[in-house]
Amino acid sequence: MLCRQVPLPLPVWLLMSNNVSWRSRLDPRLLEILVCPICKGPLDYRKAQAELVCKPCRLAYPIKDDIPVMLEDEARSLPSDAPELA
Ligand SMILES: [Zn+2]
Repeated sequence: MLCRQVPLPLPVWLLMSNNVSWRSRLDPRLLEILVCPICKGPLDYRKAQAELVCKPCRLAYPIKDDIPVMLEDEARSLPSDAPELA
């Protein structure tokens, strides 16, 4: 006797990977969970520069294709008088 197979619901990760809305613009919820990888402090989103700035570390993390690159090696060092730190 054959049992009809019930289709499984799509795994959550697949739904998330297909969700293009978070790629089209930075989700405020994403910004809330992003912290500096060095000091674990909150970041300042600079829309014009497409960067996430950590004031204590004086580092600006680039946002490439709407994806924040949270790597110290990729971050831009800011001078102490940078307007980003104001
Ligand atoms: Zn930091």
